[in-house]
Amino acid sequence: MAHTFERVPLMAPGPGTERFLAAHRFGTPGARPKLYFHAALHADELPGALVLNRMLGWLKEADAEGGLSGEVVVAPCANPVGLSNRVMGYHLGRYDLDGDGNFNRWYPDLGRTVGDRVGDRLGDDEAENGRLIREAYREAIEAWEAHGEADTLRKTLMALSADCDFVFDLHCHGEAVQYIYMPENHWERYGDLAAELGCRTALLFPTDAGTTFDTAPTVVWHRLRECFPDRPIAEPPFTTTLELRGQNDVGDDIALRDARGLWRFLQRHGIVAGDPGDPPELLCEPTPVSGSDNLVATRAGVLSYRVDVGGRVEAGDVVADIVDPAEADFDAARTPVRSRATGVLYGRSMSRLVRPGQSFAVVSGREALPAGDPPAIDY
Ligand SMILES: [Zn+2]
Repeated sequence: MAHTFERVPLMAPGPGTERFLAAHRFGTPGARPKLYFHAALHADELPGALVLNRMLGWLKEADAEGGLSGEVVVAPCANPVGLSNRVMGYHLGRYDLDGDGNFNRWYPDLGRTVGDRVGDRLGDDEAENGRLIREAYREAIEAWEAHGEADTLRKTLMALSADCDFVFDLHCHGEAVQYIYMPENHWERYGDLAAELGCRTALLFPTDAGTTFDTAPTVVWHRLRECFPDRPIAEPPFTTTLELRGQNDVGDDIALRDARGLWRFLQRHGIVAGDPGDPPELLCEPTPVSGSDNLVATRAGVLSYRVDVGGRVEAGDVVADIVDPAEADFDAARTPVRSRATGVLYGRSMSRLVRPGQSFAVVSGREALPAGDPPAIDY
């Protein structure tokens, strides 16, 4: 099957112009497994765009040589709406400037709709049930009335990835080590991805709830398994969010390393031909998302970090001071912020200016923490 390039139409931002999403397709349409990769859903997180750009040529070559199983869809720039979010020379890609929120939230739970569409037809054949569920899921996405640019984009991304067995969502943090969100039910089988990428933190997350892009397809499958326990229904697909270091860790050299890691993962799991060898040693033990401490500013000020990204932190350690530069007393000017978790400071914001309620750093931890209130401002 030849490589194809598609311009998927998005909502026009105004009359007389248009927007589209660039998508590449490889392999055999309809063949399994089906994989979906996209990058820069948060449009100012660009490391993954270069990783996928590097992989396009490899995929094209593998496809031409018959070394590709199934079907692969790649959208290196997943968010054309956010790519145009420039304000006075600054690019802001996390939120929709038209008021529709975080681009990686608010993907609808279509599990009930899919269940209503497919329930009567599920039988004793798991493969046939899977086919019916994927078909009903595609129809449910098609029927979802999305309004506005951000929701239209969400709908388009869901439609591209809805029937996939593997979904890779490439992000990054402000400043961070390499880390990954892995579905907890797939860690045992696919944990080698964290090793191949040299992750210093691997966060295991439950996939049965949430509104992020990576949980949209898994929630559907969980709902179906809950609603029809007497029917054989496969495990939800493997969906992962790669956090490729920080926003400024962008370049062809670093992208090549990550692309090679992803490629070896694809080889090891039979998607592309070739011998990847043994995976490298894992550089971290997986920890639950619920054990990760999200440090939140209690006052306005200038952040002075005491710990670099990748640094070890004990519960109770001061990670940063929030400084009021206008306070004459040096000590009184500093408000220490402590970690509740023992683990690795795996990410922190790029901006050194914070306001009360703003999340600014994250520390991994093995033990689940009390949920607490979500940060008022989540950058
Ligand atoms: Zn992101």
